[in-house]
Amino acid sequence: MTHSFDALIAGGGAAGLMCAIEAGKRGRRVAVLEHADRLGKKILISGGGRCNFTNIHCSPENFLSANPHFAKSALARYTPADFIALVEKHRIPYHEKTLGQMFCDRSARDILAMLEEECRLAGVSIFLNTRIKEVSRATEFIARGADNEFRAPALVIASGGLSIPKIGATSFGYDLARQFGLKIRDPRPGLVPLVFDQQDRARLCDLAGVSTEVSASCNGAQFREKMLITHRGLSGPAILQISSYWEKPGSVRIDLTPGSELAAIFNDPKTPRTLATLRSELRKTLPSRLADRWLEMSAPASWTNTALVEFERQTHAWTITPAGTEGFEKAEVTAGGVDTDELSAKTMECRKVPGLFFIGEVVDVTGHLGGFNFQWAWASGAAAGRAL
Ligand SMILES: Cc1cc2nc3c(=O)[nH]c(=O)nc-3n(C[C@H](O)[C@H](O)[C@H](O)COP(=O)(O)OP(=O)(O)OC[C@H]3O[C@@H](n4cnc5c(N)ncnc54)[C@H](O)[C@@H]3O)c2cc1C
Repeated sequence: MTHSFDALIAGGGAAGLMCAIEAGKRGRRVAVLEHADRLGKKILISGGGRCNFTNIHCSPENFLSANPHFAKSALARYTPADFIALVEKHRIPYHEKTLGQMFCDRSARDILAMLEEECRLAGVSIFLNTRIKEVSRATEFIARGADNEFRAPALVIASGGLSIPKIGATSFGYDLARQFGLKIRDPRPGLVPLVFDQQDRARLCDLAGVSTEVSASCNGAQFREKMLITHRGLSGPAILQISSYWEKPGSVRIDLTPGSELAAIFNDPKTPRTLATLRSELRKTLPSRLADRWLEMSAPASWTNTALVEFERQTHAWTITPAGTEGFEKAEVTAGGVDTDELSAKTMECRKVPGLFFIGEVVDVTGHLGGFNFQWAWASGAAAGRAL
């Protein structure tokens, strides 16, 4: 059976639904083609089930992309306040958790229900269990599913990244970009735990569950947040954030005691220069087990001023070379993606292929942890939806 529309949207996640709503509101006949048996599965599992749907401190600096300017236009034209207004219109209770992160009070289901209701009001057609097998383009785009064929002059790819394949992530968007000769920045796991090499695993993983505030840095980025030791390596917000900047075989620098000057106590000549003194000082800033382990790993070679300065330096600059990451199975996002040089920053339309749009996570724009990835999905979805 053949269905004809003004626009087809491949993927019924955050970006696809926002795009459909904006286009539908402008009278376009829009179809969302979703291969899963329901819309927005990632929205439902987001933010621990409460969906961190935006961040009120959103700015272009909260995003990684080969072109740091690309996201500016879309982000300026659909802001966190715009999304919050929608949330308020639907009387969804929400709160700011920390650092501008806005969460539902009740459940992420509220956000999905809101988007579904907006789609209904905008007259959007939804096709679930619809996997697109093939796309061709003559005078218009033709997307073929198992039993259906869809035709439209515009095709929007909103199929997301590669993270969490078990809830439906596919390489569809990247494959389609390649089919049309578009450049792709290598997709890699972002916001993902890091895995230790053999040596660090042997000396630290028995501390799994221990967490502390650190400052983690890599490739010019720096985040001061909590770090958690896991059974295989490191996680926690500081590590998830820095993981998006890390690339094998690079290293990550961790300041274990940011802002504190441990060796300062030894400036007082009456303070005994002993391991016990240093241990009790270190335990004031680090959890005891980690403080003790750090001293086993890096105790000062002697009690001279030079050795103490070196110990201080090492504690503020513990350098690890991860063996890898926990991969797309555990990654919250996919960094990299369709090269932004291929797209109009205003509309998300391909420069080379008029009528073809890419939005959301499949594009080489990746947000920091804290509601920024959804804000990009809403903003890029709205940008395309207004251009259809
Ligand atoms: C566990 C977890 C928690 C998260 N929490 C947050 C959070 O609290 N705040 C935040 O800002 N970000 C969060 N994120 C990131 C956020 O969910 C994504 O960045 C966002 O969903 C991307 O939106 P999208 O529409 O581009 O892709 P998606 O939401 O992934 O939607 C893509 C859709 O396309 C469908 N699809 C895929 N392939 C095909 C195909 N071939 N044919 C048809 N349909 C297809 C998928 O089934 C899916 O429905 C979280 C991610 C994870 C994994």
